[in-house]
Amino acid sequence: MSSSTLSNRPALWRIPAHQISANAIHAKAEILFERLKTIAQEHQDVRFATSLAAEDMVVTDAIIQSGAKISLFTLATGRLHQETIEMTSQVEKHYGVAVLRVEPQASDVEAFVDKYGLNGFYDTEEAKKACCGARKIKPLNQALIGADAWLTGQRREQAVTRSDLPLREEDDARGIAKYNPLFEWTEAEVWAYLQNKNVPIHPLHFQGYPSIGCEPCTRAVKEGEDIRAGRWWWLQQDSKECGLHVK
Ligand code: SF4
Repeated sequence: MSSSTLSNRPALWRIPAHQISANAIHAKAEILFERLKTIAQEHQDVRFATSLAAEDMVVTDAIIQSGAKISLFTLATGRLHQETIEMTSQVEKHYGVAVLRVEPQASDVEAFVDKYGLNGFYDTEEAKKACCGARKIKPLNQALIGADAWLTGQRREQAVTRSDLPLREEDDARGIAKYNPLFEWTEAEVWAYLQNKNVPIHPLHFQGYPSIGCEPCTRAVKEGEDIRAGRWWWLQQDSKECGLHVK
């Protein structure tokens, strides 16, 4: 391939540079630690669903640093990147904690594949919902049985569907509380935290992926594109959720 062809390639998203001082991110982290400790004190059994992406690594690190009694799990959908699978083990080793892998029921996956085909989610919204239902929603419901609160790494800035995200919301579907402890964080603050505290970073973030999900439904984005443009890129902006966070 010629150098001119290479130079014509659009630049991919890159981990943003930031101007946030160590003191400023330390102060922000302290607020986060207090938030997590308060949540853990106010509930009996709090669980955090991590995707291993940047925001979720901030929350993971803060859980460990704060000592808040919050357990970790991840939705092992069966369609994750190999890098995500390896990152889960790396996090366990780095922090000395267990991350529960919650897998879908084989019968649910088989029923989806029989009806729509393995990658049928590209064809219709209905099939995409069915796949996320089998591989994510049902396992999430299972993972939250017995919990009275759960956490996410969602931020307001991430998407039009998240612009009014609060710290605490009621998860009416499951009858428990749901917290978004990074709700008001900026992208720059997330990266400042990760870099300042030497937190493990998912390798796909170095390959143009600002957001991490299932392999067939996530791709790298170009510089300047919306940070969730690589998630279900064939869908409209307002339908770029998998149902995990639908009220
Ligand atoms: S993100 Fe894609 S592969 Fe993963 S559960 Fe949803 S539709 Fe299926």
